[in-house]
Amino acid sequence: MAIRIGIVGFGKIAHDQHVPVLRASPDFELVAVASPNSILDGCANFKTIEQMLASDDAPEAVSLCQPPQVRFAAAQTAMKAGKHVFLEKPPGATLSEVEALTRIARDHGVTLFASWHSRYASGVETARSWLQERTIRSAEIEWKEDVRHWHPGQAWIWEAGGMGVFDPGINALSIATRILPDFYLKQGALSFPANRAAPIAADLDFVTVDGVAIRAEFDWRQTGLQTWDIRVDTDGGKLALSKGGSELAIDGVAQPLPPEAEYRGLYDRFAELVRAGESDVDVRPLRHVADAYLRSERKQVEAFED
Ligand code: NAP
Repeated sequence: MAIRIGIVGFGKIAHDQHVPVLRASPDFELVAVASPNSILDGCANFKTIEQMLASDDAPEAVSLCQPPQVRFAAAQTAMKAGKHVFLEKPPGATLSEVEALTRIARDHGVTLFASWHSRYASGVETARSWLQERTIRSAEIEWKEDVRHWHPGQAWIWEAGGMGVFDPGINALSIATRILPDFYLKQGALSFPANRAAPIAADLDFVTVDGVAIRAEFDWRQTGLQTWDIRVDTDGGKLALSKGGSELAIDGVAQPLPPEAEYRGLYDRFAELVRAGESDVDVRPLRHVADAYLRSERKQVEAFED
């Protein structure tokens, strides 16, 4: 039986990824959307999650695709109504709220899935296996993109809890926490535009528990070539995971990989969790962002205008 699912927050990612993947999935039937202003043809539409859950045909599960600042209340409402919840990344605006959601899921016997789509990029698992058999000497993460191109008009992303450059940067951290040994932040610098509450760039020096340096640079001011790369130097060669994890090279030689299927992978996992009655909530990428806010120096840079 397909799991009847609703989407909450019908913006860019819901339109670009969730709808096509759900409509092609044998595991799910997309029955409803709840969004303040946007609608989707071919399903029931509501303004709020409360209206959606009160309808006669309410879904059994919801995917929460709104900005992270408003996700907690919706997730709590859904789980208290006995619904399974898929959280877009980042899973919330704070660590504490995500931990609270984990407890609520347990208390109500429903599935909570904190999704990290970049972990399902084609090259990530192959990179992980290759690195597990080698000793890492250093790693560099470079996540540099043009905010005007990728996030036009997204006011929430610049507000407190929107995370600024960590909105894409947390994707790099979700891959790094999957493929690298445990690491923590030694020092960092966050650059805040004079007129914004969230950073436009972050320079972060992490170190593994064995003292291996991991340097991360996130920047939203990159025009021209966009960079979403992780490079790792090991005792057995150099690994380069590029284009957000979709391409992998070992010592400069491109590796064969399966086709891109990030969101199909996420929904396969969600269906598996719902059927097994389990949850999957890994907060490590969000914890590194919180640590960056705790441990970094703050720089004020030129005001940012859209
Ligand atoms: P977006 O285009 O701004 O869409 C967010 C949508 O949420 C808006 O369209 C808005 O709906 C809705 N919304 C706002 N406040 C709401 C509320 N209180 N209740 C219900 N819905 C509300 O943002 P997005 O790019 O899709 O990103 C959403 C989330 O997905 C973020 O956490 C982001 O990190 C993640 N994500 C984005 C991408 C990407 O490529 N854009 C990729 C992966 C993950 P209305 O239109 O109805 O006002």
